[in-house]
Amino acid sequence: MSTIFSKIINKEIPSDMVYQDEHVTAFRDIEPQAPVHILIVPNRKIATVNDIQEEDEQLIGKMFTAARKIAAEEGIAADGYRLLINCNKHGGQEVFHLHMHLFGGRPLGPMLLRR
Ligand code: AMP
Repeated sequence: MSTIFSKIINKEIPSDMVYQDEHVTAFRDIEPQAPVHILIVPNRKIATVNDIQEEDEQLIGKMFTAARKIAAEEGIAADGYRLLINCNKHGGQEVFHLHMHLFGGRPLGPMLLRR
């Protein structure tokens, strides 16, 4: 089953796309939680981290290369940023098309809320 991210990748619905190549697409999150909040998505759907196969290793690497390039373009590379991937219910995953969040543009605070 495809998700809304496939429609964004295929440009069937609008998005604020910042990067696309034959393997990876990146666009701004619709509900940003930091001054820079971008989602980096493989063009080929993988539902969750649990579904990554060994043959996907190059593709996963390309997500990180895209993150590096985008962070530089957004001007946040030197100050720093956070990359985050949610998996399934306890991870808080809402869209079941693998995606890496890129957050930056301000100090991001502790990694998890303490409770
Ligand atoms: P996650 O909880 O890791 O699955 O994150 C899903 C993210 O997708 C959330 O941060 C949403 O705000 C974001 N999102 C959902 N729909 C869209 C959309 N149409 N365009 C951009 N971001 C979206």
